Amino acid sequence: MLIARYEIDGQIHYGKLEENSLKRCSGSPFATSALSGDVDRLDSVRLLCPVEPPRIFGAGLNYVSHIEEMKLKRPTVPLLFMKPTTAAIGPNEPIVYPREGKEVHFEGELAVIIGRRARRLRENEALDAVFGYTCANDVSERVIQRVEMSMGHLLVGKAYDTFCPMGPVIATGLDPNDLLLETRVNGKVRQSVRTSDLLFSVVELVTYISQATTLLTGDVILTGTPSGIGPIVPGDVVDITIEGVGTLRNPVVAEPSH
Ligand code: MG
Repeated sequence: MLIARYEIDGQIHYGKLEENSLKRCSGSPFATSALSGDVDRLDSVRLLCPVEPPRIFGAGLNYVSHIEEMKLKRPTVPLLFMKPTTAAIGPNEPIVYPREGKEVHFEGELAVIIGRRARRLRENEALDAVFGYTCANDVSERVIQRVEMSMGHLLVGKAYDTFCPMGPVIATGLDPNDLLLETRVNGKVRQSVRTSDLLFSVVELVTYISQATTLLTGDVILTGTPSGIGPIVPGDVVDITIEGVGTLRNPVVAEPSH
């Protein structure tokens, strides 16, 4: 099932996407699968980030090929960071290239959407706490990131407003362990990998995080990016496609000067 969050006539709804129509949910899809009976045409709505400004956990260095291209050591536990909720944007919204930006990179990623409160999950319970999956772009400013990481921390390089596009929909019922993930910049393929190459699997990430902190409904876990990362500049268009989910497209624009 594909679930979209969208705006029409100034109202925000969730809807079940079927062909080119959206069957409105009668409430939060995290709480009920009931439909209201209303139907909206896909081309008459504005798709939004599929979850309300969420908590965003990110896993770094979680594909071996990416660890090698970054010339970094393989983590022995998931290398986690957080992105502020204000980084989240939806499909077609612009990624704003910040004034301080020198080397802004795209990172195509599979994002896990948590479906319920959960703490201290066992591995065999982890997928029960997952509602579904979407595409995400863990946009990163590498110069700032490298300075931060040289001092053993990471926040600002990942944290600028608009640095976490997500969408276009949440796909439920997917097996996350072997999905094709592709990133294109201006139509050219830059990343193409299967999620079977993840170092820490979705089950391992969800289980690990839940030992420390209560996962909340709508939380997002970015599972890391594969090799092929590279720069984006204003004027570019980034497409991230995940098998079974769809394509997340965002243009890049420059932040206006003072
Ligand atoms: Mg990343």
